[in-house]
Amino acid sequence: MAVERTLSIIKPDAVAKNIIGEIYSRFERAGLKIVAARMMHLSREQAEAFYAVHKARPFFKDLVDFMISGPVMVQVLEGENAVAKHRDIMGATDPKQAEAGTIRADFADSIDENAVHGSDAVETAQQEVNFFFGPDEICPRTR
Ligand code: UDP
Repeated sequence: MAVERTLSIIKPDAVAKNIIGEIYSRFERAGLKIVAARMMHLSREQAEAFYAVHKARPFFKDLVDFMISGPVMVQVLEGENAVAKHRDIMGATDPKQAEAGTIRADFADSIDENAVHGSDAVETAQQEVNFFFGPDEICPRTR
């Protein structure tokens, strides 16, 4: 299986709940390695650019308002099959649909405030990693 990288964001609701460590533990237990990380408070321009693909959706403004409502923790995860593995750990977008034991089932309050973001494909993962991190900010750990 291919070693991949994917972008994870712990969203403002989960940072406010003080569960960064709990979420990191789940990544590590699944064999995903954190190879870059930064806490930041996104500007409106950054959040709009990151979610540009959703610009025409009715929830876009609320999504941006939510993403800039407090600090987020942004990280690059590396490991075998990292993109799909991370999506599995996160659970479905709507926590009501998310499988038991996933991050969103356990910690998300609603489809809008759903605790975490994760890239949905290898190609988007590469774009999203590059959105936040330069090559010299990533520390490969898989030999
Ligand atoms: N979202 C929302 N309302 C919706 C659908 C999505 O607020 O009806 C938000 C939610 O925070 C979600 C994000 O928009 O995580 C991106 O949506 P996407 O369908 O890409 O879901 P994800 O990949 O995050 O599971």
